[in-house]
Amino acid sequence: MNQSKLWAARAAELRPDGRAFIEGRRVAAVDGLTFDRQSPIDGRPLGAVARGQAADIDAAVQSARRAFEDRRWTGMPPASRKKVLHRFSALILAARDELALLETLDMGKPIQYALEEDVAATASCIAWYAEALDKVYGEIAPTADDALALIAREPMGVIGAVVPWNYPMVMAAWKLGPALAAGNSVVLKPSEKSPLTAMRLAELAMEAGLPPGVFNVVPGFGHEAGEALALHMDVDAIGFTGSTRVGRLMLAYAGQSNLKRVYNELGGKSAVLVFDDHKDLERAARTVAGSMFYNQGESCNAPSRVLVQADIAEDFVQLLAAEARSFAPGDPLDPETELGALVDEQQLRTVLGYLAAGREAGARCVTGGEQARQDSGGYYVQPTIFDGVTNSMKIAREEIFGPVMSVLRFQSEEEAIALANDTPYGLQASVWSHDLNRAHRVSRALRAGTVHVNQYDEDDITVPFGGYKQSGNGRDKSLHAFEKYTELKTTWISLD
Ligand code: NAD
Repeated sequence: MNQSKLWAARAAELRPDGRAFIEGRRVAAVDGLTFDRQSPIDGRPLGAVARGQAADIDAAVQSARRAFEDRRWTGMPPASRKKVLHRFSALILAARDELALLETLDMGKPIQYALEEDVAATASCIAWYAEALDKVYGEIAPTADDALALIAREPMGVIGAVVPWNYPMVMAAWKLGPALAAGNSVVLKPSEKSPLTAMRLAELAMEAGLPPGVFNVVPGFGHEAGEALALHMDVDAIGFTGSTRVGRLMLAYAGQSNLKRVYNELGGKSAVLVFDDHKDLERAARTVAGSMFYNQGESCNAPSRVLVQADIAEDFVQLLAAEARSFAPGDPLDPETELGALVDEQQLRTVLGYLAAGREAGARCVTGGEQARQDSGGYYVQPTIFDGVTNSMKIAREEIFGPVMSVLRFQSEEEAIALANDTPYGLQASVWSHDLNRAHRVSRALRAGTVHVNQYDEDDITVPFGGYKQSGNGRDKSLHAFEKYTELKTTWISLD
């Protein structure tokens, strides 16, 4: 059987369990409510998922609180907690095929990337924080002889994690890894558009030895389960990844409830600046198009505004267009497919609306611009490039979250920096120049949480990920994220 048929056969056999996971076991929603999932790849039914409400969130938070208070997790020796998290990471890898298939069916990404990127990144994130947990030390403050001041990092308590659908497992792991490693309990609310892998992760964590109640999952809708979690009086912090619109609500919920910490990782409209001194435009075009169309353009850091110096713009657009055409939408279960399905019909309508807006505003569609694979029963759009975009157009200002790139032209370095920074977002940016002074000057001037120079795809768990401005206030990954899930405690001791 060829690989494509093999995945199709496995998919046909899959019967996902959509129940919540609370206190170490699968449970239906308190009032028995469910919602139905259909796969965006072809509309096939994926079964019923528990539709969590305030009562389910309350049960999960109470379970998490009990686990925290009796110290069943945080009280374990660090070496033992480390072992559990390493086992968790290993079990994720052992369940690689099943998790990847669930992710692909649930949200439409190509199986090859679910396998090679999503599962691998999820497992390595957990393993990295497992290693980190016994390497973060407290401090002793400089004091006079008659006192000792200890500064310790303590777990916060119960962490609510609310995550999106574009990288469901990875986004969950970016919260789970540091929150669990720091000794907290977690209640995870996955997106209603991609809930299936979250509950499997919780089962694997228990199998690895994580005590019941330390990691609970309540699937459901944002305005129901998500809102209840963010408003809960017994949740100490919310790790949120999602849209800027909901990020604002998260801050409001904290203000209306117990002033819980809110760490927001939000949207982006990241700019790439390509200068005419760059010596390898082909590599630049390959990297930029690859980063843009990866994951169907459904990435917060997709380089969706490409600013090109006017004298090389014609050539560069041709190179980009050639690269874009290699991302033909295909069946996500075919291991050769590079571009899968958008997450649902609503997202398809949104993206098609932006394609129409680009044309109406006078931008020139260089390649793509149409819906694709309608006969599949799924939601596909061709990789699209608009040239002649100005920064005031809707397609340049708003996050599209689909395979749509805007090309803008500039004359001078000053103009390029001004255009790049003229956005409410500040997640990432990229500078392409072989002039060392310019590369440093421009990197310094860009208001973004990550600036890439002569590349875009470098990424690692060791570095913080997050944005300036309306792209958020938190940082996922690295020890900076670990610290975010701890409280600082000072203990003064008087010495006789
Ligand atoms: P979204 O904001 O619609 O939903 C994110 C999560 O919030 C989901 O679990 C959803 O159910 C929940 N939610 C929705 N309304 C809510 C409410 N009223 N109260 C509480 N919870 C609510 O975002 P999305 O469409 O799932 O994801 C796409 C967005 O995520 C994009 O804007 C993207 O840029 C962003 N994102 C950011 C990063 C980052 O690290 N900065 C990473 C990935 C995605």
